[in-house]
Amino acid sequence: MLTADQLLIELLERASSLTVTETIPTETALGRVLAEAEISTINVPPLDNSAMDGYAVRTAECHVDSILPVSQRILAGQIGEPLQDGSAARIFTGAPIPDGADAVIMQEHCQAEGTSVRLLRPVQSGENIRRAGEDIVAGDTILERGTRLHAAHMGLAASVGRAQLTVFRRLKIASFSTGDELAQPGSALKAGQIYNSNRYTLSGLIQALGCEWIDLGAIPDTLSATITALQRASMLADVIISSGGVSVGEADHIKAAVAQIGAIELWKVAMKPGKPLAYGRIDNTDFIGLPGNPVSAFTTFTLFTRPFLLKRMGATHVLPMSYSVPSASAWLKPGSRREFLRARVQHTDNGATEIQIYPQQGSGVLASAVWANGFVDLPAGQTVEIGDSVRFIPFSEVTQ
Ligand code: AMP
Ligand code: MG
Repeated sequence: MLTADQLLIELLERASSLTVTETIPTETALGRVLAEAEISTINVPPLDNSAMDGYAVRTAECHVDSILPVSQRILAGQIGEPLQDGSAARIFTGAPIPDGADAVIMQEHCQAEGTSVRLLRPVQSGENIRRAGEDIVAGDTILERGTRLHAAHMGLAASVGRAQLTVFRRLKIASFSTGDELAQPGSALKAGQIYNSNRYTLSGLIQALGCEWIDLGAIPDTLSATITALQRASMLADVIISSGGVSVGEADHIKAAVAQIGAIELWKVAMKPGKPLAYGRIDNTDFIGLPGNPVSAFTTFTLFTRPFLLKRMGATHVLPMSYSVPSASAWLKPGSRREFLRARVQHTDNGATEIQIYPQQGSGVLASAVWANGFVDLPAGQTVEIGDSVRFIPFSEVTQ
């Protein structure tokens, strides 16, 4: 059995980045992975400009109670005239600083008097001027290859004029659930059945990564149905993800099926929830078999499958951040495997931060993953006393 750290290393070693790229409009690039570094050809801002609504002045001509005639008015988007000696230019936020001016005095520190302005405060050279290139200098690499694009990345690319970005193509993921007991939501439950939740959890997780989800539904617990589903999936997708049937029970056919038409390379990880997890290959398609228990499927996807998929997608940064936070819950049952407890980080009344651990940690208790907003990553054999610091991985780090 692999440790969780070993599994992650082994999976990442096997994750080869996509090579095919496409060029898409910048506004559609959310969640995509940049395939080429973006280098700016311009300064941002392009010109020195005003950070405030106020008056552009020559500070050498200014002191408290100076009265300066207002010689021009410069709005954002306009270029003013050089500043006349002994005058002030009315100027607005974002407007270029006129030649000759070396500061902007904010309007709250002035008093308009007819066509002149009285300065009420001292002003220093450079005050309220945003310098050309203060954000970006021409030639700067603004985004590295392998960056997964979020809102600020899209905005930054646009700020240097990029209407299009070159990204890796979408990763195609085919998923199916296994289990004779599974009923589809929308149909009535027959005796002995449960609703298929993993299909929905996985669809959300896969789509949140920006991958193309190929849904192969649910399949019965037979070797032949499993082989058929795997063969179909391997022709359609870059990665196959299954849920359930990956243990060694009589109704578990995943390992045998993959072994028959491909190879199983990794199996079983020493963690709770989630022990039975398999990695294999069928031709050039990766296969990841997740456990069937809903919390196990969620946990093994978010902590192991997601980094693997991100690397496959071409992303450089694939691992989540975690934080050390004091626990307000005790957890007194030491586990023989590393545990990922569903827990909630919250504010205390005095504004500090604390962890609450969900009391029911069964691998079938999916409500725990809705109540919680992250995992407490607890080493094997450890307990938690109230006040102990624990390692917390927010779901926001692993579900998008
Ligand atoms: P398995 O890994 O197939 O032995 O399944 C372990 C447990 O998870 C069993 O109780 C299954 O009924 C349950 N399970 C498996 N697949 C799903 C699914 N897609 N949705 C909800 N529960 C499931
Ligand atoms: Mg099963």
